[in-house]
Amino acid sequence: MKKHDLSEILNHLGEERERYFWSVAPPVMQSSNFSFPDVATMRTQLLDEFNYQLYTRGNNPTTDILRKKIAALEETEDALVLSSGSAAIASAIMANVQTGDHIVSVQDPYAWTKKLLNDILPRFGVKTTYVDGTDHQNFEKALTPDTKVIYLETPNSFTFELQDLDKIATLARTHNLITIADNSYCSPLFQKPHRFGIDIVVHSATKYLAGHSDLVAGVICASSDMIKKIFTNEFMTLGAKLSPQDSWLMIRGLRTLEIRMERIDKSSRRIVDYVSQHPGIEKVYYPFHPENPQIELANRQMTGAGGLFTLALKTSDVEKVEEFCNSLKRFLLAVSWGGYESLVFPATAGTEKDSEQNNALVNFIRFYIGLEDPELLMEDIGQALEKIGLNDDR
Ligand SMILES: *Cc1c(COP(=O)(O)O)cnc(C)c1O
Repeated sequence: MKKHDLSEILNHLGEERERYFWSVAPPVMQSSNFSFPDVATMRTQLLDEFNYQLYTRGNNPTTDILRKKIAALEETEDALVLSSGSAAIASAIMANVQTGDHIVSVQDPYAWTKKLLNDILPRFGVKTTYVDGTDHQNFEKALTPDTKVIYLETPNSFTFELQDLDKIATLARTHNLITIADNSYCSPLFQKPHRFGIDIVVHSATKYLAGHSDLVAGVICASSDMIKKIFTNEFMTLGAKLSPQDSWLMIRGLRTLEIRMERIDKSSRRIVDYVSQHPGIEKVYYPFHPENPQIELANRQMTGAGGLFTLALKTSDVEKVEEFCNSLKRFLLAVSWGGYESLVFPATAGTEKDSEQNNALVNFIRFYIGLEDPELLMEDIGQALEKIGLNDDR
């Protein structure tokens, strides 16, 4: 496939302006259905829906522009765009397993991926073994004669453990297995799993790719053959396509992907520096933190880290942790990430109060750094720490 540089992909690739009045912005092709000039054409296209635009559950011209950009960003031959990251992950996994098959997955993948692997696929006779992904040899140890898929999420989006893409892809190739990697954390700008030999790259495009917290979407990037296989089975049957309107919004979001990611990465590194030196912080989780035991791997396979990091506060008092979060004025209390706005997510917010899980996570707080001025964000973290008595007396 022709290599396109980033600026060409984001600004021009896939856009065929001569086909729509030379308009600069692409049209939202808000049509469910497309007609044919004659029966012979109709028959040709109905028998090859993968290659023709005839019904928007399959192909749509606006979404098609987006598919070309996404595939080019991940350097794969083709891509599909779906109505959520979860739909993309489920479709990519389901397309590659059948009854009796076995999956080896990194432990603690995204919650709804775990739901698929733990509760849904076992109903169809597909089992999963989870491994600590920080040691690539654990994947090999978990293989059985029935293993068909290795599932990765590197880094994960809470404590940011990494998996070695190169070594795991090599292992998979020698055993003829399909590798799937959730690359939402890095975005295609900071990590390209296909370069290391990963077969299928999936994203929650809700996060950085769309980038404005105004739509939910997912993508699957892979070879033409794999994309055709998924299209003609799971994609068309489950029908989780993205609407033309949302495809258009994502194309618009992508125009600024590069400058958003640069800004977010730079601000986050500054803020991580600041919190790392603050006496009120017990530990900072961030892939490029000097104390991350996997920093060498991070440097090898990632070129940036985006806006997520997790802090362990120096307190085990749940009231104080909650007061800290409630005192932040420039961070919205919310799940998700990848938009323009900074967010905070106390880990215990997803667990029952006083449960065992809750107690284990009590002082963990995940931050997402958006596009705001990093000085204001640092000041805000400082004042909220002071509120709970964790002063910075340096
Ligand atoms: C958000 C997220 C998903 C799910 O994506 P949706 O677009 O919300 O369906 C999957 N993986 C990771 C790592 C995520 O952060």
